[in-house]
Amino acid sequence: SPGLYIVATPIGNLGDITLRAIETLSRCGAVACEDTRVTGKLMKHLGISKPLRRYDDHADENARERILATLADQAVVLVSDAGTPLISDPGYRLVREAKDLGYPVTALPGPCAAIAGLAMSGLPSDKFLFAGFLPVKDKARRDMLAEVANTNACLVFYETGPRLTKSLAVLLDMMPDREVAVAREITKLHEECRRGLPAGLLAYYEAHPPKGEIVLMIGPPDGEALSTEDPDTLLREALLTMKTSQAAAQ
Ligand code: SAM
Repeated sequence: SPGLYIVATPIGNLGDITLRAIETLSRCGAVACEDTRVTGKLMKHLGISKPLRRYDDHADENARERILATLADQAVVLVSDAGTPLISDPGYRLVREAKDLGYPVTALPGPCAAIAGLAMSGLPSDKFLFAGFLPVKDKARRDMLAEVANTNACLVFYETGPRLTKSLAVLLDMMPDREVAVAREITKLHEECRRGLPAGLLAYYEAHPPKGEIVLMIGPPDGEALSTEDPDTLLREALLTMKTSQAAAQ
């Protein structure tokens, strides 16, 4: 039926497309996407052929008008290049205006790098603040980190390979005792997720310059702190085990 369908797509592994996503793409009248080449590849892989319309919240007022005009009698699917639309991706303005005009809007959940990264990080996941991309410039990045640093939640950011070590250096400076996790290339061949203190992760990624896409996470201020790789933690755990076994022996 007509309306706007917000559809999540894979963030690397094409097997992560959902059954409902395939069904909705097969039945829709048109697909609004960021990059027609990227979405074209996914459609080809799925064996589905539909008109693709480029859409971007900022660049293209006319594109939005044109899509809105078709919602009365067409099912239009909104996708991003990868993952969940609107999550550091276009769609917010389109969704807001579609809803204001009274069109049905629904979302088909699926892959989202922030959620997958948090889930695999080992950091406390009960409360989190997703804050999108960290700013590129040093001062803006520090300002943003300072703004959210005392939030009692895990902080989740999107990051890119070339910028990771700069961000870790800032974390080492601003919050050296906070546990940090880096999830890279999630669902792809070289997926990895490392957790530790800023110093350790900075040393590692300076030695192994990271490629690809990254989710950077910072544990809460009062978190359980310190990864098991940290010597202090290992020592503390060893002492605790000794005490426990002594107590058991008595
Ligand atoms: N809407 C997308 C989502 O739901 O995940 C995010 C789009 S945002 C423009 C792209 C950023 O998401 C990348 O720079 C990276 O930080 C993160 N990202 C996307 N795919 C990823 C992956 N496979 N592994 C790690 N991070 C990823």
